[in-house]
Amino acid sequence: MENCIFCQIIKKELPASIIFEDEQVLAFLEINPLAEGHTLVVPKEHFENIFDIEEDLLKKIIFVSKKISEKMKEALGTEGVNLVQRSGIVAEQGVFHFHLHIIPRKKNDNINLENWWRQKTKEISPEKLEEIASKLAI
Ligand SMILES: [Zn+2]
Repeated sequence: MENCIFCQIIKKELPASIIFEDEQVLAFLEINPLAEGHTLVVPKEHFENIFDIEEDLLKKIIFVSKKISEKMKEALGTEGVNLVQRSGIVAEQGVFHFHLHIIPRKKNDNINLENWWRQKTKEISPEKLEEIASKLAI
């Protein structure tokens, strides 16, 4: 898709530090990393987000993300990873080409996701949980 920064990277019209590439998937380093090794994994075909990406391609992206996570552990001493995916404007998606962030984590890396998480969680009754679960049952 024209004017899509990730499609331009895939077509090699823009530079990127590529760490994995095959016919379907590309993985490259985030240029504004939260941590050293922060990686984006994208489908080569343009899909906007979780709602339209093909299931088999999504499986492939998860598989590649596992391989990259394992490599981070081996090569960077990464102790854990966060996989982050934002789909939709309200979810603060920035680039509208599906991408999965792999954020390598180390002890005392000052990212503090747990603190943020705890501040944002909401109280909810068991009845409300059940009501929502029945709506979402697939
Ligand atoms: Zn694109």
